[in-house]
Amino acid sequence: MRKKIVAGNWKMNKNLQEGIALATELSVMLAADKPACDVIIGTPFIHLAKISEVIDHKNIRLSAQNCADKASGAYTGEVSAEMVKSTGAEYVILGHSERREYYKETYDILKEKVQLALANGLKVIFCIGESLDEREKGIQNQVVKAELEGSVFNLSADAFKNIVIAYEPIWAIGTGKTATAEQAEEIHAYIRSVIAEKYGRQIAEETSILYGGSCKPSNAAELFSKPDIDGGLIGGASLKAADFKGIIDAWKR
Ligand code: PEP
Repeated sequence: MRKKIVAGNWKMNKNLQEGIALATELSVMLAADKPACDVIIGTPFIHLAKISEVIDHKNIRLSAQNCADKASGAYTGEVSAEMVKSTGAEYVILGHSERREYYKETYDILKEKVQLALANGLKVIFCIGESLDEREKGIQNQVVKAELEGSVFNLSADAFKNIVIAYEPIWAIGTGKTATAEQAEEIHAYIRSVIAEKYGRQIAEETSILYGGSCKPSNAAELFSKPDIDGGLIGGASLKAADFKGIIDAWKR
């Protein structure tokens, strides 16, 4: 069966010392109380190598939050997928709405990033989701389908097995406004059906689809109880070990 996952996205928070302290605290907590799901933390680039040394990789997997759309060379300030992989990270988050909006990452740029990530042995947490305006117009299904078609449906079936989807309605990210479990389940089921049309039922059934957007300990269990919700991508609540652990523990209820 598909993996149950709780993934944290620290965004641009925590200096190196604070990040090491948070990862260590979480690692100690999870050593004492083993998670019932895969746990991933998505840290800033500069934390990856150091945090890789302090965590128990059996309980916590590491993720970057981005990688370059070029393999190597004269791209000042960029960090390649190969570099990310060399830190001990296993995943990279791509397609986050903040990167699409603030850094103008297009379908084509994301397609390049996804291919380079996979070519370098990383798994990809690929984010999709509609804006409030698109939800109000009732076009959320078209939006998520276009995002999949634009950047990941070019992959072979074998390559697609390394993709985790994160459905994140933009209107719920960092706003305190969560999609209801029913709203989230409806679109997760739709996303799975679109994957099934493209890659067949079996691959669709094996693809983990995470929900993201103001997920917290108090609402995680209800969201995760839905058949097509395989876990969460967590922003704000991943910055405190106790809150993040509260969400991880939702898989035990
Ligand atoms: C995110 O940005 O991936 C996210 C889900 O943020 P938050 O949990 O803070 O809404």
